[in-house]
Parts: sequence; C-alpha cells; structure tokens
Amino acid sequence: MRWILLAAVLVAAAILGVGLFAPTGRDSAEPGPPFANSMPPAALPTSMTPRFGSPRTETCVDAPRFAAAAARNAQDIDSLAFAPFRRPETGWRTYAPHIAVEIGSSCAWDSTGFANALAGWQQANGLPPSGVLDVATFDVMQVRWHLKRPFVILNRAIGCPPGPPQDALAVADPREVYGGDPVQARADALAALRRMVADARAQDPAIARDRQALLIFSGYRSPEENDVRCLIPGSCDNVSRAPCSAHRTGLAFDLVVGAAPGGRVDSTENFNRLAQSQTPAYRWMVRNAHRYGFVNYVFEPWHWEWSPPEQRGATRA
Ligand SMILES: [Zn+2]
Repeated sequence: MRWILLAAVLVAAAILGVGLFAPTGRDSAEPGPPFANSMPPAALPTSMTPRFGSPRTETCVDAPRFAAAAARNAQDIDSLAFAPFRRPETGWRTYAPHIAVEIGSSCAWDSTGFANALAGWQQANGLPPSGVLDVATFDVMQVRWHLKRPFVILNRAIGCPPGPPQDALAVADPREVYGGDPVQARADALAALRRMVADARAQDPAIARDRQALLIFSGYRSPEENDVRCLIPGSCDNVSRAPCSAHRTGLAFDLVVGAAPGGRVDSTENFNRLAQSQTPAYRWMVRNAHRYGFVNYVFEPWHWEWSPPEQRGATRA
C-alpha cells in the first residue's frame, strides 16, 4: 500500500514537471495538486507504522545499529551534492530544521537517534529504512512540504487567485514592519501573525532580544503590482519570480529571520539561506508556526503563508 501512495506522490510530482521546485526567488507560485495539508506518521495505518520506535520515546544515543548511518549523516550534512531547487547545493544543513520536524526527532543531526527516527520515517514513506538522509529521501520530503503550502493548494484548486476585497485588508503597525514601506495584509492573517510573533517572543528570549526578528518586510501585493513587475522581460519566468505571486492573496508574509553577514533578509544565495536556517527565529517558526496556520516555502526561510479558515483542512489555527 505504501508503495502505491509513494508512487502516486511521485507520479504527481512528475506530472507537475520541472516547474515544481524551481527556484523562484521571491513569490514562488509553482502549482501543486490539491492535497491534504498534513499526513503525519501518527495518522498512518498500523501496517505503516514505523517499527524503529516512536520519536516520542527515542533517546539520541542508544541505537548503535545506526552508527554508520549517523556517521554518514554527519559527513553529508555539509557535503551532499544535490540540486533540490534546480540549483546546485552542497549539504542539507539549510533544511535540517524542517527535516527534524518532519521525522519527529529533536536529536542532534549526527546522532544514532536521529538516524533511527529517519529510518522510521523512511519506512513509513516506502523508502529503504537506511537512516541516511540521501537525495531520494529528500525528494519525498520536498514533495510533502510543497503540498502543504496554502497557496499551492489554492492555486491548484482555482488557478491564479484574485486579490482580496480592499475591506478585507488591514495595515500593519510601523513597529511591526522592517524597512520604510507600509505593509498590508488580510486582517485575519495579520491577527494570526500577531498572536504567533507575541508567543515566539514570550517563549524564546533570543527572539525577544532581537528587535528585528519576525518583523514584516512584505505582505499583500496587488495583482496589478504583480503584473507591472512582470512587464520587465524575463522577470517573471518562474525562476527569478513567479507570474502569479502568493502575495496577491494577502495571506503571505515575508518575515525577518536574520541574514548572513553581507546577505539581505530576502537573498536566495545559498550562504544566506544557510545562515537564516540556523537562527532562533527561524527554528522557532519551523517548530511552531503550523500551530498558528502558517506554512513555510522551504526555499525561502522568510516566506510564510497563512491557511485561511475557508481553505483549512488539517492545518490548525
Ligand atoms: Zn514572499
């Protein structure tokens, strides 16, 4: 059965074609099929339950049969050659926070406990349970992450969506904004963001100390603004920017999650995304944002989309 499910996911990915994981710079809009928001291992039938132990009860150093896998992960995290967004990258450390949440492990990424939990996830997803984070494993995770994005689901359901009515928009307080430009967003999405950011600051002193962490640097951008940007030849080729931006919905935010020295808060350079993936703000978001209805576009650590009530499936507000 799990092979059938896996095959279905991979066929769907194949049908979607090369545009599925294109590096879109800001505002990816690549479509994906309508799909359940979440398919956690806990919801799998008994026959598909991982046999390597529940992540909830794992310890991080007592799975000696995964010692070789742990050693391989320790090496590959900074050396694996792959191109997950059609652009060469070295190592999977940038994605490690999402991977840890995906497999339900809080262990160090070079531990046997991490490899053990990964093996369980691999088995539940029809992959050889090696405990090694390899390209085939990453590919399946990437499809799952992609299909959780509210904009991807909406885009597949109705095509490029219209903007919200003006009276649905609210203006962010300047103290919530990074940079000088005013930011608008759908009022309910902005309210959800405020709840989340307040909790992040309350729960993590490192986030509270960083006065720029989780400030908004982009929200709603009108379809007309989107179209004007796309008049520049080659500017909306689904590589530098998508022709249909998630920001037109008023549900997408670009949030400050730090930057590398010399990098911008929205730079897609690999070194910048790697630095962002290690910040307290980003790590808190990866672990907690789903509880507020927010989903990350994994290629862009700063881009988060809110699932509106009318679209919500398994995602909780
Ligand atoms: Zn964005």
